[in-house]
Amino acid sequence: MNFNDLNIKPAILKALSKENYTAPTPIQEQAIPAVLAGRDLFGCAQTGTGKTAAFAVPIVQLLSEQQSSPQKVRRIRSLILTPTRELALQISDNIQAYSQFTQLRSLAIVGGVSQKGQERSLEQGADIIIATPGRLIDLMNQKLVDLQHVQILVLDEADRMLDMGFIRDVKKLIAKMPGKKQTLFFSATMPPEISKLVKALLVNPVKVEITPASSTVDRIKQSLYYVEKANKQSLLNDLLRDPSIVSALVFTRTKHGADRVVRGLTKVNISAQAIHGNKSQNARQNALNNFKSGATRVLVATDIAARGIDIDELSHVINFNLPNIPETYVHRIGRTGRAGLSGIAISFCETEEIPYLKDIEKKIKKSIPIVTEHSDPLLIS
Ligand code: AMP
Repeated sequence: MNFNDLNIKPAILKALSKENYTAPTPIQEQAIPAVLAGRDLFGCAQTGTGKTAAFAVPIVQLLSEQQSSPQKVRRIRSLILTPTRELALQISDNIQAYSQFTQLRSLAIVGGVSQKGQERSLEQGADIIIATPGRLIDLMNQKLVDLQHVQILVLDEADRMLDMGFIRDVKKLIAKMPGKKQTLFFSATMPPEISKLVKALLVNPVKVEITPASSTVDRIKQSLYYVEKANKQSLLNDLLRDPSIVSALVFTRTKHGADRVVRGLTKVNISAQAIHGNKSQNARQNALNNFKSGATRVLVATDIAARGIDIDELSHVINFNLPNIPETYVHRIGRTGRAGLSGIAISFCETEEIPYLKDIEKKIKKSIPIVTEHSDPLLIS
């Protein structure tokens, strides 16, 4: 199948081909026709499956088809809510790309940066807003955004919005939108609160479930070092002596842990930057851009900050700490091995993390091969 078969308009096809999208991914194949037909959608899918285009492409098409004279006042006709700023900016970049040959205007509204610029852009009008809930609520309370004309609402990574305590804000925002609208809801997991929300918000939805978990996991070369906490930094420094590790995303449990790892790497002249919630939006974006351009070799991140980060061709993921939620392991390592590429995931496991390892292995239904040899045997147990 190719995008032509999905009844996509030439202006959007041209944009997709400019982005080198040749064929739709499975989630796009299923979701695009349903969204174009005006249906509500429930998508159980993670970042990396092509989920953004699955909702963004049909939204761009539906809104650009309705567009009448360009002089008419622009109203916010689609709102996309996401848990993190990085994800919002990334979706915004994608939408700019998909809509580049249409008249549509889209705008990202995120916290952590000055409100003034966003106010000015809002005054000029936008058809599509991509927002994190907090800043949007602020602007709504100041009567600077009007959600009464929203026709298509997207809740992206709803489970993560729940984890991050945004659900009340999301409900408040929804209360300001028309009752009759098309809702597209994405969540990688289905805790009870999410099922409740799905029942309340969606009318006869089309369900699209893409579980890349096992296929992704199968494609990625995984390994594990049993290593005590005190030796983790030396082991990391040592592994990174290998020049074949061109770029690595390293996960730590805490923000302080991320900063500590960066300091440890910098000491041995390995270029590294951290990305986490204590950093300003600009610092996070800067770290991400440097990593993407290859200026920094190692990006050290916490899970929340890394959610939604989209880096093409990331060769290595290193778990400095194992996560206590097995799904998180799958999310983390799924950042390598994207789009059919093979990837490498290396994990460090200290004694206290052994129960997490057991849960992870149960989840992925296999045991992770253990590396027992190292040039400095004192580093691993
Ligand atoms: P997403 O799951 O939306 O974050 O997409 C993951 C990555 O795949 C992004 O870099 C997209 O630009 C890319 N992508 C999405 N759809 C396609 C497609 N049909 N062909 C090639 N790349 C795609």
